[in-house]
Amino acid sequence: GKARATIGTTVTLGRDNPPVTTGSQPTSECPVTAPGQQPATQGARSLDPHLRRYAARTAGMTASEIRALFAVASRPEVVSLAGGMPYLAALPLDSLSAEIGNLIATDGLVALQYGSAHGVPELREQICEVMALEGISAHPDDVVVTVGSQMALDMVTRIFCDPGDVVLAEGPSYVGALGSFAAYQAQVVHVAMDDDGLIPAALREALAAVAARGQRVKFLYTIPNFHNPAGVTLAVSRRAEVLEICRQHGVLVVEDNPYGLLGFDGQTYPALRSSDPDNVVYLGSFSKTFAAGLRVGWALAPHAVREKLVLAAESATLCPPTLNQLVVSRYLSTHDWKGQIKTYREAYRERRDAMLSALEQHMPAGCTWTRPDGGFYVWLTVPEGIDTKAMLPRAVTQRVAYASGTGFYADRLGSRQMRLSFCYPTPERIKEGVRRLANVLEGEIQL
Ligand code: PMP
Repeated sequence: GKARATIGTTVTLGRDNPPVTTGSQPTSECPVTAPGQQPATQGARSLDPHLRRYAARTAGMTASEIRALFAVASRPEVVSLAGGMPYLAALPLDSLSAEIGNLIATDGLVALQYGSAHGVPELREQICEVMALEGISAHPDDVVVTVGSQMALDMVTRIFCDPGDVVLAEGPSYVGALGSFAAYQAQVVHVAMDDDGLIPAALREALAAVAARGQRVKFLYTIPNFHNPAGVTLAVSRRAEVLEICRQHGVLVVEDNPYGLLGFDGQTYPALRSSDPDNVVYLGSFSKTFAAGLRVGWALAPHAVREKLVLAAESATLCPPTLNQLVVSRYLSTHDWKGQIKTYREAYRERRDAMLSALEQHMPAGCTWTRPDGGFYVWLTVPEGIDTKAMLPRAVTQRVAYASGTGFYADRLGSRQMRLSFCYPTPERIKEGVRRLANVLEGEIQL
C-alpha cells in the first residue's frame, strides 16, 4: 500500500482490508501482536481453529475502525481527533470519592448486592427528572436502566430484529449502533441528512424503496441532537413530520439522545418522545453529562416494549451494576449536576470554537464541514479524489488522527468524509491537529 512508515504497529482497519502499517514505536497498548501470537495479517483469520464453529451472526461483527485506531492514536505525539472520549477533568473527584466511600459505608450491603433487571427505583425517578428538561413526561416504571445506552441499543435490536429485517438510520450514523444492527443481521438503509438533520423527503423515499422490495422496516434509528458523527441537529420544524411519516408507515422510532443537554448555548430541543410517547423508544445516558466509565444509561419505552426490554436485559446481565447506579443516584441528589453539565458545555464550546476557527484558517479549498451547536463532532468532506481511509496512515505519520467516514456507514460510503472530535484535546492541541491535517490534505491534493 501507500503507507510510508513501516516500523511499529499493524492496525487492521477492517475485515476486508489489508493491514495498514503506521507509526514508529510499538506500545503496550497495541494489542495486535502479543508474544507467542501470530501477527495480525489476513492469513491469521484462516488460522483460527474455531472458524467453522462461529454462529452466522458473527460474520457481521467487525472491528470498529475507531477502536482499531485507538492504540496508535493514543500516543502522546499524535493529536487524536479520532476518539469520542469525554473530557472528565472538570469532575469534582474529591467530593465524588467521599460520596462513594460514604455510599459503601452506609449502604454497602445494598450497593454490592444484585438488584432488579429493571434498575434501581430511586435512580429511575431521577432519570425522569433529567428527561423532563427536554419536555418528556414519563413514569419511572417505563424506564429501564442499562449498561450505557450501548446496551439499550443492543437490547432494542435484539427484541425487534430478525436477520434481514431493515433498520433505517441516518447516513452517516453512530458506529456503535451499526455494530449492534450488524450483530443481529439487520440490514441498514441509510437516510440522507442536511444541515437540518434527517431529510423528511428522503425518509419517505427510503420507506417506499424498502416497501417496493417487499422488505420489512422495524424501526428508524435517529440521533436528533448534535449528531454523532455528523454534528447536525434535526430542525424543530421537521420533528413532527418525521414522527408523522413513521406513524403512517407503522415504523417505530428509536431516539438516541446522549448529547441533548450539551447544547453550547444551553439550548435544549423537544425530544421526539415528548410528542409521540407510544411510538418512540428513547435512549439516554450519563456518559456525556456525568461519567462514561460508570456505564449507566437507560431506555424509556412504551409499557409492552419495556417488559420485553427487561426480559432481554435479564438474560444479558441479570441486572445493571447496583453500585454504579447508586453512585449516579447519589451524585444527582448531592451534587450540582446541572452546574456540572454547564461546565462541560463551556469546555466543549471552547473546543468547538478552536476547531472551527482552525478549519477556517487552514483547510484547503474544496473542503466543507458541519458547524455543530453542541456535542462532540464535526463532519468534514474532502475534495474528490481523496480517500480518507487510505490517507489515514499518512496522517498518523504526520501525528494527527481522525475517524475515516466509511466506518459510519453500513454500505461503505463515506470515503470522502471524516469525523473530527473536539471533545478531548485542549484547544491548542486541536488547532495544532487541524493544522497538521490541513498539511496532509495539501500533500494529497498535490499527489
Ligand atoms: N449513542 C451515541 C450517538 C453515542 O455517541 C454514544 C457514545 N459515543 C452512545 C450511544 C453510547 O453511549 P454509552 O453506552 O456510553 O451510554
